[in-house]
Amino acid sequence: SADVAMHFCKQNGRHNLLFYLPNMNKHYEKVITLEGDLRQALTQNELYLHYQPKVDVRTGYISGMEALVRWKHPEQGLISPAEFIPVAEETGLINQLDEWVLKEACRQNQEWIEQGYAPERMAVNVSANEIQRHDFTENVKQILVESRMDPQYLEIEVTENSVMRNTEQCLQTMQDLKSIGVSLSIDDFGTGYSSLSYLRQFPIHYLKIDRAFIKGVLTDPSDAEMVKAMIQLAEAFKLEVVAEGIEDQEVLDFLKENECAYYQGYHFSKPLPPHEMEKLLVKKQTYS
Ligand code: C2E
Ligand code: MG
Ligand code: MG
Ligand code: MG
Repeated sequence: SADVAMHFCKQNGRHNLLFYLPNMNKHYEKVITLEGDLRQALTQNELYLHYQPKVDVRTGYISGMEALVRWKHPEQGLISPAEFIPVAEETGLINQLDEWVLKEACRQNQEWIEQGYAPERMAVNVSANEIQRHDFTENVKQILVESRMDPQYLEIEVTENSVMRNTEQCLQTMQDLKSIGVSLSIDDFGTGYSSLSYLRQFPIHYLKIDRAFIKGVLTDPSDAEMVKAMIQLAEAFKLEVVAEGIEDQEVLDFLKENECAYYQGYHFSKPLPPHEMEKLLVKKQTYS
């Protein structure tokens, strides 16, 4: 094969021709293969969702959940979103993927609402590309209408880095989402470079502290201080704070002492298939 690989992709509605240099070949061969397979996955029902509870630190109640996409490749088996989301972003397939996830999460949640099981919110992750589209809020609105779900139930998660990329457009989208009643979270908080002045302007509801800091709270004093500072920052800005990746009781105790409001993590539950999530939600109903 040639030293230079060429590759067409569609991004933001435009066709782009990309050239890749030899040392990039290995990476991009993989990207191109995955892209083809992912395109197929979107039409062949190979994607599905798992749901991870978001839990109230004080009471232990499930206050919400997060939809996380899963892909079972016909030959390679499960492929992690950490691997295929970047490919989807690079190739423009992310629009279709995020839209599918939004639709499926809203459909499922509406079912749970009608059964009386649904917690306060269903969170859906959305890529930088999506949040920067000027028609994003319109799409969300339409999906909400189709699923008949009340917008108050929907939460959109965007990473700190993705909102800092095009702050003006993001601010507009965030305001539009807020105006239709949808909540917003800043995901992976602490790993990016957001400025405090932007953070203050953004109409956000939740800050999700990245697992990278949580992991070290018991062993690394600077991680512990960072987490405390982020909890205080959230309080000062009147945001709810969620800690990601809680794997043990000692870390949960730390969060309790420092008045973190919510957490997610394997300690409470891994992301679950819908029927298992439903069991947890039913159990919650009988307790409360
Ligand atoms: P994220 O949104 O920060 O999601 C949290 C990730 O941490 C999930 O990985 C979850 O399974 C994992 N996790 C949760 N609790 C624990 C824990 O206690 N310990 C450890 N070690 N891990 C924990 P997952 O599902 O592999 O997703 C990875 C990332 O892929 C997500 O990070 C998100 O950025 C992205 N992603 C997942 N689903 C979607 C989607 O539908 N659309 C978009 N655009 N991105 C998605
Ligand atoms: Mg997330
Ligand atoms: Mg996160
Ligand atoms: Mg994270």
